[in-house]
Amino acid sequence: MSKVAVINCTEYEFDKVSMEFKRGISLLGGWQQYIKPGDKVFLKLNLLMKKRPEEAVTTHPVVVEAVTKELLALGARVIIGDSPGGPFTVRALQNIYKATGIQEVAEKTGAELNFNVEGLDVRFPEGKIIKKFHLCKAMVEADKIISISKLKTHQMTKFTGAVKVLFGAIPGLNKAEYHLKMPNINDFSNMLIDLALCVNPVLHIMDGIVGMEGHGPSAGNPRQVGKLFLSTNPFALDWVALHVVGIRPKTIPTVSLAAKRNIYHGPDNGDFIGDKIETINPPFNAPEISGEVKFPLPKFISDYLRPKPMFSPEVCIGCGQCAQHCPPKAIKIRNNFPDLNLQECIRCFCCQELCPHKAVEIKRSFLSKLLSR
Ligand code: SF4
Ligand code: SF4
Repeated sequence: MSKVAVINCTEYEFDKVSMEFKRGISLLGGWQQYIKPGDKVFLKLNLLMKKRPEEAVTTHPVVVEAVTKELLALGARVIIGDSPGGPFTVRALQNIYKATGIQEVAEKTGAELNFNVEGLDVRFPEGKIIKKFHLCKAMVEADKIISISKLKTHQMTKFTGAVKVLFGAIPGLNKAEYHLKMPNINDFSNMLIDLALCVNPVLHIMDGIVGMEGHGPSAGNPRQVGKLFLSTNPFALDWVALHVVGIRPKTIPTVSLAAKRNIYHGPDNGDFIGDKIETINPPFNAPEISGEVKFPLPKFISDYLRPKPMFSPEVCIGCGQCAQHCPPKAIKIRNNFPDLNLQECIRCFCCQELCPHKAVEIKRSFLSKLLSR
């Protein structure tokens, strides 16, 4: 089924979100299609880093509260969590749950927060490029997974939504290995598709009430979109969300590759249900897919043309998070400032994604901008 419920919801006010969310679920056939009493349900959020809800980096706690209360009322056991961008430790999770408002949701509702930081190998023989994933044990052991992503732009993949959020099913720093093994955007995106099929949540919800445009997923600008999206199909959901924010779906590698793999070719008549769908004006300001040069060129020229991370001396405090999370260890902190070995950089832009101070900018040369037109 590829139906996507698109629901207008303009503010994070609990009664309003709860009412609109119930409308969305009933348009998709009601909870009984997905959850039964006694199910252990893992609510997989986007908790990328320690950020306050209004910064629009993480799934908003009011949406989580509305979904959690519904699930508990159905008699499900609810475990809330994510494997964030940095280390997957109890301490890191405690800090993130607290800052993002998710701890308060657990206190109010009685849902559990996940503190199991173990991983588990899961075979996936039908994967195109990954036949075995290392996943968070708590997610694997749940009866059902429901994801609640956040509508955002992304410096590496241009967009992060229902498909990309599932990269957080891979525990902590193991994510770096996937970046290292698949530095090419198409390989990485095919891996994300395999992962979405392997994790296979029963329901995908997207918090698009306030999304993020610009230098997402953490250093962009919050932008009102005013929508909740619900679907059992993450590819269909991303397609609709992209349409709403004015990004051509086929420019996103997970979307174009899903079509190439005959997984999802785009909506049919009647696939969108709920409220009227209009593209916001102006459309989202989104980065180009910036790790690639489209023409066959000598390596020294293509290296020059590839965008690169630049560190702001005015903003950087020398905390070393970028160096810690750089998959190939291309960054060393010297004299309290990042020193990048560009030859080793794989353009994953984890440094930009995980810098807590927005001190990393991705720069493209004038020629590179010209050639990508
Ligand atoms: S993470 Fe950001 S603030 Fe910290 S050292 Fe790197 S660039 Fe500077
Ligand atoms: S320097 Fe930044 S973009 Fe380059 S490999 Fe390291 S984390 Fe990725």
